[in-house]
Amino acid sequence: MISPHDVDPRRITPLNQCELPRFETAAGSLSPRFPQSHRPVIYWMHRDQRVQDNFGLLHAQALALHAGAPLAVVFCLAPSFLHAAWRQYAFMLDGLGEVARQLAALGIPFALLQGDPGQETAVWCLQQHAAVVVTDFDSLRIKRHWMRQAAEVLAAHDVAMLEVDSRNIVPCRAVSPKQEYAARTIRPRIHRLLPEFLHMPPAVRPHPHAFAGHVPQVNPADLTQLAAALPVNRTAEPVTWLRSGPGAGLDALQDFIANRLRFYAENRNDPLAGATSRLSPYLHFGHLSALRVALAVQEATAPREAKEAFLEELVVRRELADNFCLHAAGYDTLAGCPAWARQTLDERRHDPRSHLYSLEEFEQARTHDPLWNAAQQEMRLTGMMHGYLRMYWAKKILEWTTSPEEAMAVAIHLNDTWQLDGRDANGYTGIAWSIGGVHDRPWKGRPVFGTIRYMNESGCRRKFDVPGYIARVKSLASSH
Ligand SMILES: Cc1cc2nc3c(=O)[nH]c(=O)nc-3n(C[C@H](O)[C@H](O)[C@H](O)COP(=O)(O)OP(=O)(O)OC[C@H]3O[C@@H](n4cnc5c(N)ncnc54)[C@H](O)[C@@H]3O)c2cc1C
Repeated sequence: MISPHDVDPRRITPLNQCELPRFETAAGSLSPRFPQSHRPVIYWMHRDQRVQDNFGLLHAQALALHAGAPLAVVFCLAPSFLHAAWRQYAFMLDGLGEVARQLAALGIPFALLQGDPGQETAVWCLQQHAAVVVTDFDSLRIKRHWMRQAAEVLAAHDVAMLEVDSRNIVPCRAVSPKQEYAARTIRPRIHRLLPEFLHMPPAVRPHPHAFAGHVPQVNPADLTQLAAALPVNRTAEPVTWLRSGPGAGLDALQDFIANRLRFYAENRNDPLAGATSRLSPYLHFGHLSALRVALAVQEATAPREAKEAFLEELVVRRELADNFCLHAAGYDTLAGCPAWARQTLDERRHDPRSHLYSLEEFEQARTHDPLWNAAQQEMRLTGMMHGYLRMYWAKKILEWTTSPEEAMAVAIHLNDTWQLDGRDANGYTGIAWSIGGVHDRPWKGRPVFGTIRYMNESGCRRKFDVPGYIARVKSLASSH
């Protein structure tokens, strides 16, 4: 039997002041309002787009089972989301088709709404007479706004709303109550708590209590058509090399563990080696749970250094990114960067730039630098730039724009428009690290960068075969 205690309370945060069902005490001591009403429990999915390994859905089902109540899942498609284009909407809607199929098999209705998510979701939940609404934790401003909005609307009708952190292995709020300075300060906190959280949750099961309302069944084929008709930026087209959805995410995980994990420590900085996992699109859309990935890697037969290097990225760096976005209000501007970095960039504000490019020139990969152009082109063609090149790519944008503010805006625009995994805490943090020294330290001073860490092409040549990489992207472009 699934129990509300299956989800560690440190994952759960109330988002309004309404009374919650009380499960902590002995059997029979549920909140008096909750079990008698048989009103449904509703799980609002937005970040963690999967059925299994999802603590939010699991908690919603546990609450519903204990109350003998129905359960439903709702997702609201926003008409625009940061710089998301057709490419990312199509990937997401494909994955949601699989979610719809899995929920239908479990007898759990799935409602797909469209519009302003905070408002529409709350109104729909009220129409269904929700007893409680459970949703995903997210550190991004736009998501926190949606959730605040929904929690207020629900509170006006005395409906409790909770968020559950299913994205992080050690829940973001449990790791630290404040912004951490760097990987070295968050790492011991994460490692101290990790053993308490490295356990798979039970599976979400067929739900026994029928939902009274009418929820039209979501047909996966309709979602593909919907993606094709959305009035969003269509220049970034859907990718064909990567299948979307939780099933494809699990296949990709198995492929990585079987064929590439063992080379990770040695070769992860070489874009030609194919040693990284390429799991970030699945992790970004929540198709894949980081907890499942971490446990699979721990159990794999691979050198210890490979496993440790991978888990450092998946756990420490990834959770550091959520910590940054949750606590630094200006995570996507220079305001979110440390004082030393803002000062050094300000002192170099008027340094002459060797080259200056417009957003359009960057976007179309028309700089003087074949390596930069190849990285940009790879992102345009595949929706995925290799991790090592992302650093070089962002730092060169700082070097070739008129100000660090413009550099951040350009990098975010391009990253969020073209990368499948863009619009993510990892992306804002990676850009803030590259351009604004976040989680880094001052290095030797130089023009434009001041003491921000510098990267150049000869550094890349020491790591990998630069001409080979450029040639590979050229051949990729010619086959498109
Ligand atoms: C300028 C810049 C922009 C970036 N933009 C994004 C982005 O939009 N979305 C995104 O998910 N990541 C971003 N990253 C972080 C990182 O480059 C990617 O997560 C990684 O390259 C994805 O490829 P992979 O799945 O093969 O990674 P692997 O090397 O196989 O790592 C496994 C997982 O660990 C996490 N991870 C790896 N490196 C980092 C990192 N430095 N910070 C946080 N988490 C990490 C990711 O979830 C990744 O999927 C950015 C980094 C930089 C420097």
